[in-house]
Amino acid sequence: MSTLTPRPRPGILDIAAYVGGDHKAPGANRTLRLASNENPLGASAAAIAAYRAEEGELHRYPDGNATELREAIATAEGLEAAQIVCGAGSDELIALLTKAYAGPGDEVLFSAHGFLMYPIAAKTVGATPVAAPEQQLTADVDALLARVTGRTRILYLANPNNPTGSLVSSGEMARLIAGLPGDVILALDSAYAEYVPEGTDYDAGADLVRRHGNVVMLRTFSKIHGLAALRLGWCYAQPPIIDVLNRVRGPFNVARPALAAGLAAIRDPSHAAASRRLNARLLPWLSQALAELGLEPQPSAGNFVLVRFPRADRTAAQALAHLKAQGILVRGMAAYGLPDCLRITIGLEDDCAAVRDSLREFLA
Ligand code: PLP
Repeated sequence: MSTLTPRPRPGILDIAAYVGGDHKAPGANRTLRLASNENPLGASAAAIAAYRAEEGELHRYPDGNATELREAIATAEGLEAAQIVCGAGSDELIALLTKAYAGPGDEVLFSAHGFLMYPIAAKTVGATPVAAPEQQLTADVDALLARVTGRTRILYLANPNNPTGSLVSSGEMARLIAGLPGDVILALDSAYAEYVPEGTDYDAGADLVRRHGNVVMLRTFSKIHGLAALRLGWCYAQPPIIDVLNRVRGPFNVARPALAAGLAAIRDPSHAAASRRLNARLLPWLSQALAELGLEPQPSAGNFVLVRFPRADRTAAQALAHLKAQGILVRGMAAYGLPDCLRITIGLEDDCAAVRDSLREFLA
């Protein structure tokens, strides 16, 4: 027997595997899943029907070019279908972009409390993740630009950001792009774009893509469309980047039921609109309720709120356990370097009230 063992490339074993939100609360007689920013209204009836209609086609490969879905997205959003690539969640597109543009010796830049998949994707390809400090839990354009070096290949910026909920304004974004060398990709992760309140000085990225060859906009069906289970995302960029992504992606990277449900979801915007309205009502409600309990909710433009626990005798970790014992699953933030915070997804009205009641009891 050989004494040799397979070993992954350098850096792979430095990756702390992504730990998703809790799904189970053993022993509790109810489970409120508020740990993964899922849509509390579920998927639309039209998307579910389209998904079910695929059951007789499971032996068939999907359309590897996602043509119908790309065309529907382009129509709905006023974009060029040829400049869209679909993926198995925006997670896949983050991985593909990183694989195609960064490697050993390169740097992948992001904001300190950015989405955890950015450093994971960077380390996976042997690149060095670089985190820029934030100001008041918000991406800091100057700090990001100060960390751009000759080795920087991609800057990932979630806007709104998960887990902080913070937003970078259009003006700040323009300043960021102006300061960024043209050979550095700015990947704007707009997973929560649809939740940004109307009237906000905000650009999800489509106009920026039109004007700049180094900007990529990432979007997902997991949040506003409630299709997280099916793994469906898309990105928009100018043709050279789209060409690269089409070369490195799998030939059938999006499953048939995902394409079908996504198409139905995009053609019927009423469900997304209802999801947006629900969030617009309950996010301020829960934030205020948390503040009234003496906690420190951060302003959020997403479908979740990051809340700080200021008391040494009532910590976030204890609150997480207290909520979980009552079947209320929210997200601990230690992996994001925010151990005194929890992130709570905005659920249905009763869910939000249950969070408030449970935390009131915890803090008493
Ligand atoms: N980007 C951000 C900022 C997210 O918060 C998430 C999921 O929580 C994703 C990307 C991944 O989304 P998807 O389900 O499309 O892979």
